[in-house]
Amino acid sequence: MEEYYCPTCFNKLERLSGCGTVGYMCNTCKHLVSKQKILSEQDVADTKNHQQNETGSDHGTGGVPD
Ligand SMILES: [Zn+2]
Repeated sequence: MEEYYCPTCFNKLERLSGCGTVGYMCNTCKHLVSKQKILSEQDVADTKNHQQNETGSDHGTGGVPD
């Protein structure tokens, strides 16, 4: 079974199902996350990589060795 993650805090979402609908609840943010915004494990990895790359390049251009 696939796990989904919160787009705000990246914690695992709790799957809520009932009445024919499925929702995802973040127990950290205490709110429901719409199906369009939930992240798969791959999405979380991509997002974190992207953030690291951005800060990493900042550091790289900051200290140019000469
Ligand atoms: Zn959250």
